[in-house]
Amino acid sequence: MQYLSTRGHPERKRFCEILLEGLAPDGGLYLPEHYPQVDASTLIRWRAVYQQQGYAALAFEVLSLYIDDIPAEDLKALCAKTYTQEVFGTAEIVPVRALEQGLFVQALSNGPTLAFKDMAMQLLGNLFEYELARRGEELNIFGATSGDTGSAAEYAMRGKKGVRVFMTSPHGRMSPFQQAQMFSLLDDNIHNIAIEGVFDDCQDLVKAVSNDLAFKNKYKIGTVNSINWARLLAQVVYYFAGYFQVTQHNAQSVSFTVPSGNFGNVCAGHVARMMGLPIAHLVVATNENDVLDEFFRTGVYRVRGSADTHETSSPSMDISKASNFERFVFDLLGRDAQRVNHLFGHQVAQLGRFDLSQDPQFAQAATRFGFESGKSTHADRLNTIRAVFASHQQMIDTHTADGVKVAREHLQVGTPMIVLETALPIKFAATIVQALGQEPTRPAKFEGIEALPKRVQVMQADVAQVKAYIAQHCHLA
Ligand SMILES: *Cc1c(COP(=O)(O)O)cnc(C)c1O
Repeated sequence: MQYLSTRGHPERKRFCEILLEGLAPDGGLYLPEHYPQVDASTLIRWRAVYQQQGYAALAFEVLSLYIDDIPAEDLKALCAKTYTQEVFGTAEIVPVRALEQGLFVQALSNGPTLAFKDMAMQLLGNLFEYELARRGEELNIFGATSGDTGSAAEYAMRGKKGVRVFMTSPHGRMSPFQQAQMFSLLDDNIHNIAIEGVFDDCQDLVKAVSNDLAFKNKYKIGTVNSINWARLLAQVVYYFAGYFQVTQHNAQSVSFTVPSGNFGNVCAGHVARMMGLPIAHLVVATNENDVLDEFFRTGVYRVRGSADTHETSSPSMDISKASNFERFVFDLLGRDAQRVNHLFGHQVAQLGRFDLSQDPQFAQAATRFGFESGKSTHADRLNTIRAVFASHQQMIDTHTADGVKVAREHLQVGTPMIVLETALPIKFAATIVQALGQEPTRPAKFEGIEALPKRVQVMQADVAQVKAYIAQHCHLA
């Protein structure tokens, strides 16, 4: 399998080449040259693989269609090491439960950090360790987080050989639970840097360091952001696993509702659908930051400035632009890289928007690609959390609540709707207390984590200081 850039760069690459890279050289995103097709007999076989051999075996089936530069036995071992009951809590790894007639919730949030980013990041940690050892290289991941991504990256990379993580976060601005999760990691290769400032200051530091090519090369700086193809690919697997749990045979189709921010999760659903998984609709659920809902309703994609980006009670969806969205637009426009380059490289870059409302291809987002969308607000979130607790005695997190609210507006008789549960309520306790007047239940292994010893370096938002810290803690061979 070869990978190309959404903006038309002529070079083609293999999986392990793009594994450790971010954007393509022309600023585009990597996609496979084609989507392997899963025919009827393969889908029957995969159902049996998942039911009889488990999630790791299914992951190997999906991944091996896209990865041909890791020997099959090694890839199989990497999947088996990643998707274990010990790490993800259940044998199904992504168990589906019924909420009510026709409406299901698929748990993606039982990994080490209780958010769906573990699903991909845990695999990425093992792939990085494998590939770096094979090359005899090291990598220093430098990133910024407001919560979920950073902790998922740290839990995936802790103790891994050849990898160090330097993660900045805005000092004192994450929830106490999130701070405890990250700062209680005492592994030698994990470095928490709390920046006196807001999340944007942390992101600016990452940009400044990435733009210093000499420093970046000398200290082998890399990232794990959501545009990484390997992360997206890992997420494709759980759409298949969700489908197999809710259906009895492959003539049935299902729909998914996906709480969305950077369009990474739902883009994996799009890839699964392009491969032939019988998905009727992919419903994009946003919070007040409704960049994506606006696009699917109107054809206008308009990125927001930081002043227009709301701080909400589903904070992992607080985005101003959807960094993976370019991948879908590439497919929507018949893989016309020149147009994608014009839309994202010029129009978005200069005007902050583009408008496909008059383009005949826009209608295909719904008709051919199955996309629908909706939006949920703080009040909707509280109402949904209350209603689900009252009728089903289940606590759902704020992001999942956005999904359930929007899913209910898109139910179709005869087509099961699966809402992806992207986090557990304990991560966003304040809103649960506001909705229900009681603390969310806490998984046993997280009892008392706020009291554990912490390791964090507080620093000003100063590029020179941060660079000095990285240089000092790199121990380059
Ligand atoms: C990251 C995240 C999302 C958004 O996922 P995208 O891939 O960015 O669309 C939703 N919910 C939670 C809890 C998250 O951590």
